[in-house]
Amino acid sequence: MPEPFVVIGGDAAGLSAASKCKRESPDREVVVFEKGQWVSYAHCGEPYFVKGEVDRLENLLSLTPAEIEERGIDLRRGHEVVAVDPDAGTVTVEGPDGEFEQSYGDLLVATGARAVTDPIEGSGLDGAFPLHGLDDAAAIRAFLLDPSEDALADVGGEDFVDRERVERFGAMTPPETAAIVGGGYVGVEMAEALSAHGLDVHVFQRSGYLLSPFGEAVGEAVAEELREQGVTLHLDEEVARLAGADRVEHLECAGGTALDIDLAVVGVGVRPNTDLLDGTGVELGEDGAVAVDEYGETSVAGVYAAGDCAEDEHTVTGESAWVPLGLTANRAGRAVGATVAGDPTTVGSIAGTAVVKAFEQECGRVGLLEDGARDAGFEPVGETITTRSRSGYYPGAAETAVTLVADRESERLLGGSIVGTDRAAVRIDTVATALEADMTVGELERADLAYAPPFSPVWDPILVAAKVLNGKLKD
Ligand SMILES: Cc1cc2nc3c(=O)[nH]c(=O)nc-3n(C[C@H](O)[C@H](O)[C@H](O)COP(=O)(O)OP(=O)(O)OC[C@H]3O[C@@H](n4cnc5c(N)ncnc54)[C@H](O)[C@@H]3O)c2cc1C
Repeated sequence: MPEPFVVIGGDAAGLSAASKCKRESPDREVVVFEKGQWVSYAHCGEPYFVKGEVDRLENLLSLTPAEIEERGIDLRRGHEVVAVDPDAGTVTVEGPDGEFEQSYGDLLVATGARAVTDPIEGSGLDGAFPLHGLDDAAAIRAFLLDPSEDALADVGGEDFVDRERVERFGAMTPPETAAIVGGGYVGVEMAEALSAHGLDVHVFQRSGYLLSPFGEAVGEAVAEELREQGVTLHLDEEVARLAGADRVEHLECAGGTALDIDLAVVGVGVRPNTDLLDGTGVELGEDGAVAVDEYGETSVAGVYAAGDCAEDEHTVTGESAWVPLGLTANRAGRAVGATVAGDPTTVGSIAGTAVVKAFEQECGRVGLLEDGARDAGFEPVGETITTRSRSGYYPGAAETAVTLVADRESERLLGGSIVGTDRAAVRIDTVATALEADMTVGELERADLAYAPPFSPVWDPILVAAKVLNGKLKD
């Protein structure tokens, strides 16, 4: 029997790998170490749990610990891996009963990423939260409750949740004014979540538009939507510090803007969790995420990395890229699980396909927009069109803005974005598929997309954008 397959991290990438390996190779011992109590959970649902659309924390679990163990996986919660020794083929683990060594045959590092809060002074104050984990979401929702309510009963997840934190925030006077530091997707989703509780919400964004990776057309539409929904935007405003005596009470920007607040969500980005690999010989890429080959194997044989802590190959550039997202983690984890079980499986490339909801607006982006394409050495040509989402005479037709970007010389499609209120987000998958197939704009223009009045105009918005961009390329 080979030494066990050891997995560090019990969420999307780690458990996808463990489950796949156990299914393909039932006799292989599979051990998963998770430092927290939560496993197999959906970060992505956290804003909707805060908003109240998701009722209880346990609804955000894909599998319970019992279900994972039923799969034959040796799951150890509350166990942090603190060192990796590839020469000895061991990891050092700190668990409830002290420190021990675990040997491995294959090792998967699936440690994810952590929220970056250090650029914002005072982000450790009570009432200032990152949103990266179910305990953060539980604490924020408890804080929003009236102290007369039973916070633990409201949030659920009693077997796993940080009870002390929930009870502490549940006992506090609920906040009335919230600052969201960072206008990325977490910031935008949290603006919607906190507005639903009647808070006066302010979003601070360092650059001139929200959702920067989605491009300007999306950012402007989202800004308009947030303002219409009563959110105050502070664009081109860099938050310098949060301040307060016991709790966060005040926010100050580098440019002098100041605001009294009683809740802050700091969503200024994430950083891959790779400290564990210092000194192991495992190479990191430019972004600090683990460099891997097409099978997710690192520079050290038998050591794999997948998910938010790892790079992948970019579909458009063919270069390594770090885009920490959910499907990427699940897919790469599953591929590594198959590979270590004896069925070599590639992790696939990533196009940075992402969607986000901003109140009524749905946004999508994929591939490279103009700035990214220029940085990658292309000569990008872009075009933004606005058209209807369904036949104009059919109820529910709404304006939809599509941006497509292509390379001038090869006419190859490089990326795109979309925004609109009527099923706009999922339309980005057409562009993602075209990128995967390396299509030119002309080829996309000739794609046989579906049409019927309730779903689309005769010319789908993506086809209209391709037609207009193709014309521009021919000029
Ligand atoms: C608020 C929020 C909303 C999101 N929304 C979306 C979305 O809508 N769409 C999308 O595609 N993506 C979204 N994401 C990103 C998505 O959740 C991640 O890409 C995905 O969870 C990554 O999975 P992972 O397994 O790599 O890492 P994680 O889910 O972070 O899991 C890593 C696990 O490793 C554990 N760990 C770390 N170090 C150690 C150690 N030394 N020993 C033991 N255990 C360790 C951690 O405790 C953690 O449980 C969102 C993320 C957040 C925070």
